[in-house]
Amino acid sequence: MIIPVRCFSCGKVVSQVYEEFKVRCEEYQKVVKSGEKPTETPKEILDDLGVDRYCCRRMIISHVDLLQESAPYE
Ligand SMILES: [Zn+2]
Repeated sequence: MIIPVRCFSCGKVVSQVYEEFKVRCEEYQKVVKSGEKPTETPKEILDDLGVDRYCCRRMIISHVDLLQESAPYE
């Protein structure tokens, strides 16, 4: 569904960085597909956004955005 507001394990607010992570990751994937060397990897994006603990990283990395698919069936 939508990204949880806080990390389930430690309680840090993670929803605020999700949109930026998604945008920068799409940019990374575009650059990799075109065969060029990316300026930043997803690891460096998470480091830059201040998501240090692995419990918080898994919240963002493992999230699957299904809201648009389930919204018509409310
Ligand atoms: Zn956490």
